Amino acid sequence: MGNKRNHIIDIYCTNCNTHLYRYLKEGEGKLIKCYTTNILEDDTINLLHCPGCGEEFAREARYHNRPAYKIIQGKVYVRK
Ligand SMILES: [Zn+2]
Repeated sequence: MGNKRNHIIDIYCTNCNTHLYRYLKEGEGKLIKCYTTNILEDDTINLLHCPGCGEEFAREARYHNRPAYKIIQGKVYVRK
C-alpha cells in the first residue's frame, strides 16, 4: 500500500456487464489475479461466480504465498 503504482479499478462480467469487484491493483499490466485482501467491494453472492449470469469468472489460488483469485481470461473486463 502507498505505492503510487497501485490504483483502484472496477471489474465487470464480460457476459452481462455486472459489477463484480472494486479492487486495489498492484502495479501495471493485465489483470491476472486478485489478491483477496485487495478487494475493496465485492458484489458477488456465490464465491467467484457472477451474480448477474452465474458465470464462473475466477478460481481460488495463491500468489507469492497470498490468497488470491486467478481470473479466467476473457470472463471479466476492467475499467479504471
Ligand atoms: Zn455475468
